[in-house]
Amino acid sequence: MYDVIVIGSGPAGLTAALYTSRAKLKTLVVAGTMWGGQLLLTTEVENFPGFKEGILGPDLMDNMWKQAERFGSEMIFDDATAVDFSSKPFKVMVGSKAYEGKSVIIATGASAKWLGLESETRLRGRGVSVCATCDAAFFKDKKAVVVGGGDTALEEALALSKFVREVKVIHRRDKLRASKILQERAFKNPKIEFIWNSTVQEILGKDRVEGIRLKKVDSNEEFELACDAVFIAIGWKPETEIFKGQIELDKAGYVIAKDTTKTSVEGVFVAGDAQDYRYRQAITAAGAGCKAAMDAEKYLEEV
Ligand code: NAP
Repeated sequence: MYDVIVIGSGPAGLTAALYTSRAKLKTLVVAGTMWGGQLLLTTEVENFPGFKEGILGPDLMDNMWKQAERFGSEMIFDDATAVDFSSKPFKVMVGSKAYEGKSVIIATGASAKWLGLESETRLRGRGVSVCATCDAAFFKDKKAVVVGGGDTALEEALALSKFVREVKVIHRRDKLRASKILQERAFKNPKIEFIWNSTVQEILGKDRVEGIRLKKVDSNEEFELACDAVFIAIGWKPETEIFKGQIELDKAGYVIAKDTTKTSVEGVFVAGDAQDYRYRQAITAAGAGCKAAMDAEKYLEEV
């Protein structure tokens, strides 16, 4: 029996585990087969405070894990496959094995949607990114493209325009899905240009992004553009499938939090991108992990 079971091992989960284990609560982290969250897919992280020269994403996560482990957190490198929050203690299933916890912190995060191109996977972290806030500064005075036509795409384009020489937004239709206010801002920005009715066929470059090959959807005509960075902004998916029917989720699948970290089930808390579609930063997820741990600690003192 654990005091706290943390599901997920990105900055939210590992910060939660650090706090609960340091508070002498018996803590299990169900880390997932791909432990470490989205920072494992990045290279240099320059905006996590405390590292004045920056730090590699995987190193940051390794440090976070070792810090939580130092205070006694245990970790399973496997995926949680189901949960039962209908009675206490709560159950978290990993395959056929059930782990019991007096409280649970959900920190399963969200994943960016990708186009699914081989070149996109190969050049991830080498010019291909899903986070302008994280990576725009690496492309000062360079050429960038953003793929997508929603709010995220335009926010990425606007954020990039502060650093790069030009941004081209590639959209598969001739109408944006984004809100009017963001459209107005993007249309007014002299650095942002739109390429309509076009889809990405391939991201070009051997070791780093050098360009992009596009296809016009109406004529099937293919053409190439030179660029140094490709920001994919076609949406996000919260990793909350196993919580359906167990706690309240919104229409898009994000966990609904009340009073900061509380879910619809007393004793089950949430932190990070599984709940937060707005900030999506390592530091905000870590902060949320701390809050969820403190709320879990308080809950355990009171039951
Ligand atoms: P979204 O609204 O679902 O937009 C995704 C965009 O990517 C759409 O334009 C879609 O094209 C395009 N797309 C999807 N799959 C694609 C593919 N395989 N290839 C090419 N293009 C593809 O996602 P989002 O922009 O991330 O926004 C998600 C939610 O968060 C929305 O409710 C949004 O309003 C909200 N949000 C709000 C703000 C803000 O208020 N500041 C900022 C960010 C997000 P189609 O248009 O053709 O479908």
